[in-house]
Amino acid sequence: MKESVLSLNGVGEETAQQLRDMGIHTINDLINYLPYRYDDFRMKDLTEAAHEERVTVEGRVHSEPSLQFFGKKKSRLTLRLLSGPHSIKVTFFNQPYLKKKLNVQDILTVTGKWDRHRQMITAQTYKIGPQQGEEEFSPVYPLKGLMTNRTLKKLIHQALARCADSIADPIPEELIAKYKLPGRREALEGMHFPTDTETMKQARRRFVYEEFFLFQLKMQALRKVEREQSKGISIDYIKDDLTAFISRLPFPLTNAQKRVLKEILKDLKSPHRMNRLLQGDVGSGKTVVAAISLLAVITAGYQGALMVPTEILAEQHAESLNELFQPIGVTVALLTSSVKGKRRTLLLEKLAAGEIDILIGTHALIQDEVDFKHLGLVITDEQHRFGVNQRRVLREKGENPDVLFMTATPIPRTLAITVFGEMDVSIIDEMPAGRKPIQTYWAKENMLDRILVFMEKELSNGRQVYVICPLIEESEKLDVQNAIDVHVQLEQYFFDRYSVGLMHGRLHADEKERVMKAFSENQFHVLVSTTVVEVGVNVPNASLMVIYDAERFGLSQLHQLRGRVGRGSDQSYCILLADPKNEVGKERMKIMTETNDGFVLSEKDLELRGPGDFFGRKQSGLPEFKVADMVHDYRALEIARDDAHKLIESREFWNEQRFELLKAILVEDGILSGSKLD
Ligand code: ADP
Ligand code: MG
Repeated sequence: MKESVLSLNGVGEETAQQLRDMGIHTINDLINYLPYRYDDFRMKDLTEAAHEERVTVEGRVHSEPSLQFFGKKKSRLTLRLLSGPHSIKVTFFNQPYLKKKLNVQDILTVTGKWDRHRQMITAQTYKIGPQQGEEEFSPVYPLKGLMTNRTLKKLIHQALARCADSIADPIPEELIAKYKLPGRREALEGMHFPTDTETMKQARRRFVYEEFFLFQLKMQALRKVEREQSKGISIDYIKDDLTAFISRLPFPLTNAQKRVLKEILKDLKSPHRMNRLLQGDVGSGKTVVAAISLLAVITAGYQGALMVPTEILAEQHAESLNELFQPIGVTVALLTSSVKGKRRTLLLEKLAAGEIDILIGTHALIQDEVDFKHLGLVITDEQHRFGVNQRRVLREKGENPDVLFMTATPIPRTLAITVFGEMDVSIIDEMPAGRKPIQTYWAKENMLDRILVFMEKELSNGRQVYVICPLIEESEKLDVQNAIDVHVQLEQYFFDRYSVGLMHGRLHADEKERVMKAFSENQFHVLVSTTVVEVGVNVPNASLMVIYDAERFGLSQLHQLRGRVGRGSDQSYCILLADPKNEVGKERMKIMTETNDGFVLSEKDLELRGPGDFFGRKQSGLPEFKVADMVHDYRALEIARDDAHKLIESREFWNEQRFELLKAILVEDGILSGSKLD
């Protein structure tokens, strides 16, 4: 019902405004405003109640209430209550008037916090008399301003009664039947006014499914529309050229590399637009897969672009691709902010004339001034930094190139099918043979002396060391200061024995380049850095990484950082300096020392920190679910995805009247155009 909340009894302009502030405009908004938890007023068997748990008990007052005052306003009333086999003490704060109201032998129901050790309840609410007739669960709603839970509950009650007969159910009947879900109306009643745990559970189960199903339906529809409506290019690559190129590589491809390559080449050849995510742990060899894919496009007469998050990484990729491609006459160019003036103009001209085969750079690559002659493939590295919408922008660039997104942050399955629900996914789940796993140790910060000795030992063997500085949330400036301080300390410590470089985000691009180059040429033996070295940078001679304040980093981020060492053939080490304050923190450090598997770590990270923190606040791109929880309800998420996929691919969905409601939702979201419905 699109009718305004003003049509409800007792809602005047003032209440309506309060509701609007909470995003509630219509009766429909009101009934869909779901509680986020329930107060539980069920009788509790105290034998089983946990310490500090909130409990409700009914009993008979057994002692005359005794009242004590502290100062003028504060008071404490205590009495003894007999409840079944228990004799417990009940305390009321600042309700002195109860002294007169409560008498020995009265029946009393109290709800409050249970102190198991002292067999005592601190009362929060009470009722003189038995609990009978009261509700056992009371929904608790997210509130804003002056709105109270009580008022909101009453309004929802009224609203539900008003439109009970006109609540449409968007979930197809056959799915409702298949999973024995309550209908929408029944489920709404169950959420707002549950009579028992079972109704509550079933209602929740339905909304979890509904949220996931509708979300996945949008993703699947988006995927279908983009595949079919956007005319892609069919890339007719020359297979023999690829085979020859692969045979000249200094190593054989792993089976996983071969498999994902096949998936990518198939997409390139098909006339549909490729929209694929390539996942692979740090060091799993994504770059060479990217290179072969780019080459495929070039053999068919198109150009390719490789987009990376930082300029340093762009430079490194340009260097390694040049090495691979120069011998076979493929031109690779680098476009960064330091390419300016005449050089830039010239580069852009050559690009437009088709004289450059592969362009590498940061997101500057998708700016308007950059015109390709025949762009066939765009590859982005570390793409989890982009949300669904940025991905759409990228795909809409130019002449519908195929798009491959690469990420080294293994994304847990549950998140992958949510965040990247509209994409196809390829996974490199195998490391090249002969890698020595990095040995990771967790050390307390007071062990710094011993760590310096260890650093010295690696350095004296001719190896190099990264020192990653503390991360101070939300403040790049402080991060930089930290790095500067640590740099000074280490310079003093190593004095004339070893040279120490400094790298952070505030350096100019060319300074960064100079520092990185000096480190990769072993002119700096130690590199003190903020997290700017996080992605991609390759210095195989570095064999030790020390990370200060490691507990401040996410597991996936630590794993990324750690991936900067262990890139050569020698044993490498990572030392996490951390004094975590709580169990979760300790657990996180421990798991880092136990596994080198990025997927295991990412699952664990998700479990320990929740989906919001997983990608970091600013770049999350995560959908928000009101009832469902991506981590705990992941089975439902997978099922909903399959159901949504089947439905979108079915002919009935597009032809039959009974799916109008679902299609209207897709139109409202801008995924389908209205005319598609005619
Ligand atoms: P990432 O997936 O982190 O981008 P890279 O592509 O940088 O990994 O590869 C890491 C290193 O492994 C590079 O030095 C690369 O040359 C090497 N490499 C890639 N594939 C193989 C392979 N199949 N066998 C051996 N070494 C490989
Ligand atoms: Mg890489």
